Amino acid sequence: MIADHPKELWFELRDEERQIIGTLRDFLQAEVAPTAAERDESGAFPLEIVKQLGQMGVMGAQVPEAYGGAGLSTRIFARIVEEIAAVDGSLALTVASHNSLCTGHMLIAASEEQQQEYLPKLASAQVLGAWGLTEPGSGSDAAAMRTKAEETSAGWTLNGSKQFITQGSVGGIYVVNARTDSAPGEDKKHLGLSAFVFETPIQGFSVGRKEKKLGLNASDTAQIIFEDIKLPKNALLGERGKGFYDVMKVLEGGRVGIAAMAVGLGRAALEFAAKYALEREQFGKPIAEFQGIGFKLAEMGTSLEAARLLYLKAADLRDAGRPFGMAAAQAKLFASEIAVQACDEAIQILGGYGYIKEYPVERYWRDARLTRIGEGTSEILKLIIARNLLAQYK
Ligand SMILES: Cc1cc2nc3c(=O)[nH]c(=O)nc-3n(C[C@H](O)[C@H](O)[C@H](O)COP(=O)(O)OP(=O)(O)OC[C@H]3O[C@@H](n4cnc5c(N)ncnc54)[C@H](O)[C@@H]3O)c2cc1C
Repeated sequence: MIADHPKELWFELRDEERQIIGTLRDFLQAEVAPTAAERDESGAFPLEIVKQLGQMGVMGAQVPEAYGGAGLSTRIFARIVEEIAAVDGSLALTVASHNSLCTGHMLIAASEEQQQEYLPKLASAQVLGAWGLTEPGSGSDAAAMRTKAEETSAGWTLNGSKQFITQGSVGGIYVVNARTDSAPGEDKKHLGLSAFVFETPIQGFSVGRKEKKLGLNASDTAQIIFEDIKLPKNALLGERGKGFYDVMKVLEGGRVGIAAMAVGLGRAALEFAAKYALEREQFGKPIAEFQGIGFKLAEMGTSLEAARLLYLKAADLRDAGRPFGMAAAQAKLFASEIAVQACDEAIQILGGYGYIKEYPVERYWRDARLTRIGEGTSEILKLIIARNLLAQYK
């Protein structure tokens, strides 16, 4: 059980959430927190921890129980991601991407046969999921992708590559987006795209460069390459040529998780900075007693609280089956921007110690920085939000 704790940011845990979050917190404190900094340094992927999370239901959080998942709401899933991020940002990205991207795409578009084949393996973390959209030449402009799947008498032949893929080198089930049909025109290039699902090892699949990153070092990011991969007809995931619409839905769901991840990292920075400020003395008193420090903490706490409410709103809308794309974009935009600011202020509150690796706040800042980029950059999210807003006033 979790008691409302004065040192925590306020949040209301509903009854059903208390048990899940309480058990998860105990696990994170015992098994993850003590080694998170070490993994950030070494870049070692925490396969054993991920497998344990699989046994706890975290890796199939929203997969229906019939397929071996935990059947949880988006709200609880997002709370789970926040908790993990408050301890280990890399692990939070692993959990968020596995659930929201690869598995998320399956939940949106897979046939019954595909669900039966892949979901139990993903939900138990027997196999990790990766999702390929980004390419060397296409990021925000995803529809400009060059990966191609050509239809053959036996099925499909896949050629191309994907870049910056989370779980790229440690995954086993891959959902890959590719062009199957030519676009009716440059302004309609979102048409003619399709998704495919396959399991490795498979002939023609290889892992390219493993990326060295600013942060999230214990999350796996790699290029994946497809050279004449022969896929059966039933590898097609969703409707041929309409894959872009599924991609947009997948990203909308994913953004709730990334917003929660940002809040978790910002919260960790706030908690560390507040405790530090109470202990560190300058000019004969704890620096927390200087209004300049108090104001920083006040702004960090207030904006993190607002960010949490935004992601919970998006999650609740999704769980209610209502449109949530705008809310998810707003949640991720706001949460990622203010989380980076909160981590930056935490570094400032620690002064020189904030810049030193012995203290965790510089890691929180490096990890949080990705949340402004992945699954829609802040600039792209502003375009989406502006489009939605303007549509209301037309
Ligand atoms: C650690 C990490 C993990 C990732 N995991 C995955 C994954 O699992 N699967 C996957 O498919 N991808 C993944 N990505 C890729 C990520 O989603 C892209 O990096 C992101 O979408 C941005 O694309 P880009 O890097 O090509 O930047 P670009 O699209 O080239 O953008 C460069 C800059 O231009 C701006 N810009 C672009 N278009 C516009 C516009 N119209 N108006 C204003 N500004 C604009 C952008 O906001 C950005 O600031 C990951 C990336 C990282 C770093």
